[in-house]
Amino acid sequence: MEYSKIVKKECPMCGKTYFVKLTEVEYDQYKKYIAYGSLIQNALSNTSPTVREFLKTGYCPDCQKLLFGKCEQKELFFSYDDIREDVTKEFCERHENILDALTSDDADVLTEEEWLLLMYEF
Ligand SMILES: [Zn+2]
Repeated sequence: MEYSKIVKKECPMCGKTYFVKLTEVEYDQYKKYIAYGSLIQNALSNTSPTVREFLKTGYCPDCQKLLFGKCEQKELFFSYDDIREDVTKEFCERHENILDALTSDDADVLTEEEWLLLMYEF
């Protein structure tokens, strides 16, 4: 899977919680950016401006569209609206060891977003 990490932020404008999908490399760059600080455009030079803005300020793609008139790679973002609560709840109830279950075939019932969220939470 290309995107294996997510970062969670609450948008300061609409107050909605959003997640962005990152690759392992981007996630490491993000952690370094948080730890050492520098210009985000240097720290995550290969990441789209919309994703960088979200990592920096938390503005979600919809609010960035309102603020800046554009947003790119909206498909990298998701919110709890995209998560089927009944499916993820049942998945968690059915398995004793969620992490093992997530790396088994049982995880096929989950969407990529649901899988990433559960990986993030456990
Ligand atoms: Zn927003």
